[in-house]
Parts: sequence; C-alpha cells; structure tokens
Amino acid sequence: MIVIMKPEATRAEIEAVIQRAGQMGCKPHPIYGENRTVVALVGDLTGVSREVFDEMNGVANTMRIQEQHKLTNRATRPDNTIIELPGTNIRIGSTEIIVMAGPCSVEGRSQIIENAIAVKEAGAKILRGGAFKPRTSPYDFQGLGEEGLKYLAEAREVTGLPIITEVMTVETLPMVAEYSDILQIGARNMQNYGLLQAVGKVNRPVMLKRGMSGLIKEWLMCAEYIASNGNYNIMLCERGIRTYETATRNTFDLNAIPVVKQSSHLPVVADPSHGTGYREYVPAMAKASVAAGADALILEVHPDPDKAASDGRQTMSVAEFAKLMHDLRRVAVAVDRFVGEAPSPVNVDELAELEALA
Ligand code: PEP
Ligand code: MN
Repeated sequence: MIVIMKPEATRAEIEAVIQRAGQMGCKPHPIYGENRTVVALVGDLTGVSREVFDEMNGVANTMRIQEQHKLTNRATRPDNTIIELPGTNIRIGSTEIIVMAGPCSVEGRSQIIENAIAVKEAGAKILRGGAFKPRTSPYDFQGLGEEGLKYLAEAREVTGLPIITEVMTVETLPMVAEYSDILQIGARNMQNYGLLQAVGKVNRPVMLKRGMSGLIKEWLMCAEYIASNGNYNIMLCERGIRTYETATRNTFDLNAIPVVKQSSHLPVVADPSHGTGYREYVPAMAKASVAAGADALILEVHPDPDKAASDGRQTMSVAEFAKLMHDLRRVAVAVDRFVGEAPSPVNVDELAELEALA
C-alpha cells in the first residue's frame, strides 16, 4: 500500500504517517519525489486499514499496489529515478544516455589506465572492469582481486572517470565498496539474496544484472530486496537470457527495456556485449537499446580485444567503439535524448533569420 501525500504536505505530516505505519507493525519507506512524497508501506499489512491514513493531515489518498514489487514500482514513484554520482555531473536516468565502457577484466596497471584514457576520449562517462570474475571454469582467469581494484582507482585518478566493478560475495563487499563508485551484481548472482540484502545496506549505487534464466518479475523482486534494505539507487541491466538459440551467446531481450521502464521507475542499462557475445553484433543492439529507451549502456572495449583475458570475442576495439559513439549520438537525438555534450538550446532569433533567408 502507498500513502500519497499532498504536494504541500509538511515534514511533520509526513513524519506522522511514518510513525503511525510503524505503530501498525509494517515498514514505512518514504520516497521523496519532485512533486510529491509517497510513503510506501511494506511487510505485514494485515490489520492496516487505508481509512486510518486517509483521515490524516497532509494525505492526498492511499492506494493498494497489486504487483509484488512495491518500492520499485512505477505507481509508487511516477517520476524516473535519477542516480547522481557524487563529485560528478553524471545523472543516470536523465535525458543524457550514459555510456560505461572498458575491458571485461582488469588485467594490469598499464592496460586499465590505457583503456580508460581511450574510452574517455571516445566519450565514455564511466569506466568498467572486473577485478573479481565469475568464470564458468575455476581454471580460467579469476581476476586480480584487490590489486585490480587498486588499478581501477588509479585509472579513475588519471581520467576522472568513476568506476563500476562487480562484487561477488558478502565478504568482499566492504572492500569493493571502498574502491568502486557503482557496485555491479552479476547475472549469476541476481538471486543471491544475502548479497542483495548486503548491498541494500551500503551507500553506493547498484547495477543489478538480469540472471540468464531470470524472469522480468523475478528480476524486479531482486531489485526490491535491495530497495527494501534502504538502498534505492538501483539500475537494472539487461544482458541477455539463455534460449534455444546458439547463433549468439545469449538472446538479448530488447523487450525487457520497455517492459521494465513501464513497470518500474528505475533506470535501465543495456549490455549488448554479453547480450550478443560477438563484437560485430554489438553496435546494432546498442543502437536498438537506445531507441528502445535504455538510460545507459555498458560495453566491453579493449585496446587489443583478441588478447583480452576474458570475453575477447564480444569486446570491441577502441576504433569500433569510437565509431559506435558517433552513431549513438544520432540515434539518441531521434528519441529526444543525447549522448555526450548536451545539444545547445535552439536560438529562436537565429532560427527566424535562417527561415527569413530560406
Ligand atoms: C561482466 O560484466 O563481465 C559479466 C561477468 O557479466 P554477466 O554477469 O552479465 O555475465
Ligand atoms: Mn565480460
């Protein structure tokens, strides 16, 4: 159930609703939107009557949310959630489409710094790179661990790009959170509820990847685990699902983008690198993702992809990435978004002069 406050409701009136909900034995989550505040009530709602809240000062109305995801539901917050990264002007979920790029794995100090400089030059706003790698075989490269996190932090120092990296376990969470600006939960950990609860208690934005066999409604419930523990800065990342098709590594579920945008206020990230598994298919699906409404992209890029320690086949070269960034700018404009520099506002006088000349 949600209690929708009037736009002019005072702090004291909001507090009174929170307090009353607590007394009734459920857990209140105030969600402060641009135009109105909503107090979402979750947990055991037996014995909670809407009338009690309807009569309180500052309350506009109450509403039951039928779907299982409550805090992440679009009905709870009609405005898009915008995730701001402290110390930067990056806002994920706004009109600007944010591009995150970098190698699958951090392989060494010079590799990640060189890679960071290259993707920044091409227009990436966030650096990706795995230090803890969830590999199918225990004999494959597992990542550099804390050493990799240190190199990522150095690359951030050099370029100013914030970093996103995967956290695989509850034990390593404090360490990863110390270095990383965004915590990535990998596809294989989508339903690792202990890890979800733990990142829910940490003050860092989280990018939750969809599990390879995860239904959209299960994925939303995983985001709900994070939100219900207090962390609302969550983005949902579509990275392809497993189907009978073998021509690509995964089947990139483009449908998921509009479906999730409709049922949740959380920003959506698209990962066409893992979604396709082949670098030659990445540009088409990256452009399609922007057209479909994705708020951000995460792309694997390496100076020498064929020598990458992991996921080389789906990793773009720097030149391929730069070309894609150029094309993405044009696709973004077609859907009233932008990539990189904000378009300068139309000068009405100049426009009138041009029209007069034509
Ligand atoms: C990755 O981002 O390199 C990764 C391991 O992704 P996923 O969890 O989607 O397989
Ligand atoms: Mn990868």
